[in-house]
Amino acid sequence: MSQRAARSSPKTSVPAEETVSASPLDIAGATPMMAQYIEIKAANTDCLLFYRMGDFYELFFEDAEIASRALGIVLTKRGKHGGADIPMCGVPVERSDDYLSRLIALGHRVAVCAQTEDPAEAKKRGPKSVVRREVVRLVTPGTITEDRLLDPSRASVLLALGRRKFSESGYAYGIAAVDISTGRFSLSEVPEGELGAAIARHDPREIVLSEAIHSDPSLAGLWREVKAPVTPLAQAELEPASAERRIKEQFGVSTLDGFGQFGRAELAAAGAALLYIERTQIGARPALSPPTRETSGATLAIDAATRANLELTRTLSGERTGSLLDAIDRTVSAIGARLLAEHLAGPLTDLSAITRRHEAVSFLVEDGALRRSLRDALARAPDIARALSRLGLGRGGPRDLAALRDGLDAALAISQRCGEVKALPEDLAGIVQRLGTVDADLVEHLRAALADDLPLNRRDGGFVRAGYDAEIDEARLLGQDSRKVIAGLQARYAEETGCRTLRIKHNNMLGYYIEVPQAVGETCLKGALRETFIHRQTMIDAMRFSSVELNDLESRISGAADRALALETEVFDALAARIMAQAETVAAIADALASLDVTASHAELAVERDWRRPFVDDSFSFVVEGGRHPVVESALRRSGEPFIANDCDLSGEGRGRIRLITGPNMGGKSTFLRQNALIAVLAQMGAFVPATRVHLGVVDRLFSRVGAADDLARGQSTFMVEMVETAAILNQASRHSLVILDEIGRGTATFDGLSIAWACLEYLHEQNGCRALFATHFHELTALSQRLTRLDNATLKVAEHKGEVVFLHEVVPGVAERSYGLQVARLAGLPAGVIARAGSILKNLEKAERDRPTRPRIDDLPLFASLAPPPLPEVQAPAADDPLRQELDRIDPDALTPREALEVLYRLKKTARDDMN
Ligand code: ATP
Repeated sequence: MSQRAARSSPKTSVPAEETVSASPLDIAGATPMMAQYIEIKAANTDCLLFYRMGDFYELFFEDAEIASRALGIVLTKRGKHGGADIPMCGVPVERSDDYLSRLIALGHRVAVCAQTEDPAEAKKRGPKSVVRREVVRLVTPGTITEDRLLDPSRASVLLALGRRKFSESGYAYGIAAVDISTGRFSLSEVPEGELGAAIARHDPREIVLSEAIHSDPSLAGLWREVKAPVTPLAQAELEPASAERRIKEQFGVSTLDGFGQFGRAELAAAGAALLYIERTQIGARPALSPPTRETSGATLAIDAATRANLELTRTLSGERTGSLLDAIDRTVSAIGARLLAEHLAGPLTDLSAITRRHEAVSFLVEDGALRRSLRDALARAPDIARALSRLGLGRGGPRDLAALRDGLDAALAISQRCGEVKALPEDLAGIVQRLGTVDADLVEHLRAALADDLPLNRRDGGFVRAGYDAEIDEARLLGQDSRKVIAGLQARYAEETGCRTLRIKHNNMLGYYIEVPQAVGETCLKGALRETFIHRQTMIDAMRFSSVELNDLESRISGAADRALALETEVFDALAARIMAQAETVAAIADALASLDVTASHAELAVERDWRRPFVDDSFSFVVEGGRHPVVESALRRSGEPFIANDCDLSGEGRGRIRLITGPNMGGKSTFLRQNALIAVLAQMGAFVPATRVHLGVVDRLFSRVGAADDLARGQSTFMVEMVETAAILNQASRHSLVILDEIGRGTATFDGLSIAWACLEYLHEQNGCRALFATHFHELTALSQRLTRLDNATLKVAEHKGEVVFLHEVVPGVAERSYGLQVARLAGLPAGVIARAGSILKNLEKAERDRPTRPRIDDLPLFASLAPPPLPEVQAPAADDPLRQELDRIDPDALTPREALEVLYRLKKTARDDMN
């Protein structure tokens, strides 16, 4: 059965900007070639079809229209179908990678259709026969391997999901994370509630799953949220028996006993991943490492919202620049950069593993000479993980062999250098031991075999070093000799014709030919020369000929070149086979190089920025002295401004487990909150931290709700998003968690917001018992510290100088007196008239508030106590008949234009005046 017939094209649920229509074209009346195209296209309806014709991949019909718009290439036409012109556009095969990468980035999938027989063979079947073509590969975002299509510093993860019934109503989800560009393969299982966080941690390029999971209504929101394309696969193909067969085939085992540690959901996920790889790679099987198991709870749980809010690997606008990853990345190799991103996405919770990483960093901080020499060697190590994977898939080129030569050579140099070092800490010793497994003979062999300048593709030849293989040298010599003979022939023909401008040239159409000016050509057609010169072409001012001698020479040259290339290909295959025979060892060496690069990067950063080793244990401690925000500090440094370091202690069983921060706008509340969360992330990923001293009890989950942004794409308002995320925190945070809440309740009317913030604070204090930082502009909440024994107030210091506010960015115990909103508004450039007017309104409002006979008193409310279900506090109703307050209640500041805001201020003032009269 042909590959085409064996496949049904999967549909992707996050489509490209324009999708390919699924309606098949009518084959009746089509030319034989078009009929072939239509047939192949019908089996790949949701892909753009790159149809190979000579040196181009051509696209037809709707595909051509979509591609020409997406790529900005000219749309032409070729013949007719059903009476209408057939739109066509094409991309040169040589540069097809560039076009592919652009189409993939736009969310398209591409089916690459190659000519699978020699045109000469096709001709033998009859003049009208069409060259056989087959789809040799589907290029999709999660299954690419080409260097030019991949981001060197980001893993290219294909995520596959499976599931098993866990309880009456719930499922446990198996996750297979496969990076076919490096062969990494891991399996894990998570409860349904943690699926979103797990997907966010893997940051996949593409997700595949069964129809049943895809259409489960309880997960619909999740698929809308994830950025990667989601491709459902037919249930029938995902039966446990086929999953089992695929796993056995991939790993060459006859039973799954060795996979006993994995559960049903994980094996189902592995089966789905392998099915999708099989389908997209069509025949080529990537060399995947045996799956590793990620145990649940081994990494710090960080949900998607928290990741986004803390801008760990990307900023809110999706850029790497400005993220924590960007600020801490001092790696010098692509494999190191990818591992750093992975460590940052999944900080550890295992105390001994964290400590081992810190010890390794510490060692390289202390030994600067060692660190520098290791980093020099690492910088010379190319991306051997991806080179290895391409070789495994049969897509490797000479440069991949060279990458392995240089990478393994660097590993050898590092292992020798470290061999001289005594008392290496455990993690470093492990790395050095793995690097020591390099096959030095292989490196020598590669060095001897590969030339200095290497072509991209092996079909270009010329990559075997002269002197390595006598037969190749001989074939090349023959080729070179023949070229000398051609030069001699040219000189002889020039003499015979008396034409000094006679040249022997070469092109793809004619091969070698003799070119003379038109007048000389005419004489060649007559007389004695007629015997030698065979006419080929007449140009405007020149004529082209061949000769028997020249044809002979040509076949000798091309024969020699073909022979040399065939021999070089043999050398290539032998070298690739030798490397692939030790693929697992090489993959482990790549991992060791990556780990070393990450460790050295942390050490380099610590020295450069004076970051310190955190002390981590299993207590509930959270002590940060002299803490800084790594990204804000870098930004300020660039503009020459100092960053004010701040302490934070949330460890107290007595006071201070939750810290309520009030303070002026622009005072630095958000920065302070985030910096403490980031310090916990850095410490648990194994890095040093931007603080003078840190004592951290391992955090199991990190939550952050910072800022407010409408998520219209998700169909949720600002406030809804805020509440969904807050609900997740209150439902999941444990005593070991760290929670950052910034201005909860700001997205609704003042009293609603205040009540929610108040109740959340009580709940965190009484029920979750976690370490928390809570920033707010609701100054009323500060009174809660009188009753919540583990709540402490802190504020950001400001100074006033001649009516101007000066932000000192210093966190001190206590309560902010005011928000300084008007001062900030003035700094922001609001017109002076508005500021003056707002000032007098504020005065009146404050006076009205002071004079109010009944103000809500927090002390009067019962505490948010034992909960099962939680009794709601009896909130004392604010004076319902206060018109000013009612008016204020109705205002939604976020929904007002500046002009409407001004009108509201006038109205408020009038209401206040009326009220006083
Ligand atoms: P708002 O209440 O208006 O949201 P905020 O109190 O949360 O403001 P931030 O956004 O944290 O304030 O900080 C405002 C700016 O102040 C930052 O962009 C930064 O430039 C500066 N800043 C914050 N903290 C510090 C610090 N510790 N040292 C120096 N500059 C700081």
